[in-house]
Amino acid sequence: MSSLKPARRWQPAFYPFKKEKFSRRLLARIELAFKGPVFGCRMCGNCLLQETAFICPMECPKGLRNGPCGGVTPEKNCYVDETRKCIWYAIYKRSIKTGRQEKLLEVLPPLDWSKTGTETWGDVVRQVRKAGTGKFINGVLSRDREKYNKIWDSVFKTIRQPEWWEGDSEYHPALNKEPASKLESKLRNGEFVVATEVTPPLSANSLKLIRDIDAVKPFVTAVNFTDSSSANPKMSSLSCCKVANDLNVEPVLQIAARDTTRTALQSTIIGANSMGIRNVLCVTGDNAIVGPSPTASMNFVDVDSIQMLWIIRKMRDEGIYLDGRKIKSPPRLFIGAATSPFAAEPELQAIRDQKKVNAGAQFFQTNLIFEPEKLDAWLEQLDRRNVLDKVYILAGVAPLKSFKVAQYLHTKVPGVYLPENILKRMEEAGDGEAEEGIQIALEIIESARKKNGINGIHLMTLGWEEVVERIVTEAGLV
Ligand code: SF4
Repeated sequence: MSSLKPARRWQPAFYPFKKEKFSRRLLARIELAFKGPVFGCRMCGNCLLQETAFICPMECPKGLRNGPCGGVTPEKNCYVDETRKCIWYAIYKRSIKTGRQEKLLEVLPPLDWSKTGTETWGDVVRQVRKAGTGKFINGVLSRDREKYNKIWDSVFKTIRQPEWWEGDSEYHPALNKEPASKLESKLRNGEFVVATEVTPPLSANSLKLIRDIDAVKPFVTAVNFTDSSSANPKMSSLSCCKVANDLNVEPVLQIAARDTTRTALQSTIIGANSMGIRNVLCVTGDNAIVGPSPTASMNFVDVDSIQMLWIIRKMRDEGIYLDGRKIKSPPRLFIGAATSPFAAEPELQAIRDQKKVNAGAQFFQTNLIFEPEKLDAWLEQLDRRNVLDKVYILAGVAPLKSFKVAQYLHTKVPGVYLPENILKRMEEAGDGEAEEGIQIALEIIESARKKNGINGIHLMTLGWEEVVERIVTEAGLV
């Protein structure tokens, strides 16, 4: 356990992939002996401690390097292991306490796996020499903040932001003048849009999928297909998108970081775009711990959702792969991200969301909203950060089919909490529970659509696709 923060180590320390020289191995040992107890360092060899308030983010079971997932429990514990605090929550808290919160906005790179387990102190020494040892010492002792930051960054930014990444804290607006999809076009035109989700089938037969897509087709602008939600294998999002495209329904391809690597991500984007898929939603994905047994690997994410946004945006706007190769015909895309407005305090959540927008998110689809009145504080924080005019927000609404579904969402789905009054209404509705669920959804839509900053609704049907027609019609959204 680190002596400076309240979390237990989760991931094992990384080890080098190849045998290093004795001197480097010795240095790595000394580094681990110091940084392990003090910062909780896992020896990822791609040090980011400067930007993460000197708490090692590699203690996060998912290996997230750009902020928390939406699954923090109300006690601010990690949902993968509820016996310990979310490490990212600790990083956010300390950053705010020490006035370093703006550092959290820098988009940090994925691991260069060839460096894992190796020392970084040697790199620091090399960079200090390059900058000039005397100049460096003068700079860090200087009271001039600008001088200090400049010399500090010339050493540490060079280490944490390699040339193949060069992440920053800036907003990068999309460069395409014409909208990439119908969804983007309607949002640009100021229309209040409705997107929905059709549940991918468990079988290889797509008849039910086709029926469900046809049922929602007249009432929505776009249809999302989840990427094995709750870590449960189903028909892939890409296949479902292809089926939807063939039916002239605009799909939103969801890609979960849990099951992708940087290679798979880039090839999927190119392939999907060649099939005419123009909307993509990047999510971290539920950890394997909530999926069926036997439990798959819970600990490594090759690229997190913010890194996915950054990579995809660069593919589209700069026409390059992560390794710098040119893409002759870059993909045309409307890029989205998921957000969980109530996962953390609004101030903290807004930092994470701003980072997503800076990285490339043009639209958000929120986690399920059951207390729309609580959206105000989050929207206000986004507004303070000047994010609201840079992203379209679709509020996530789910009609509850039964009290059992309500209980399941409340207790089993990471990041979703239903207030007492809604659970009570569903329980007391008895045989009329499905009707009560529809009424609750209509009330939430009514409230959410009046809010400045909400540009549409994302109806998550949870397998109840037939209800879309009624909700959209009764909410006056046709
Ligand atoms: S998996 Fe999510 S909840 Fe757990 S430490 Fe990582 S960011 Fe926090």
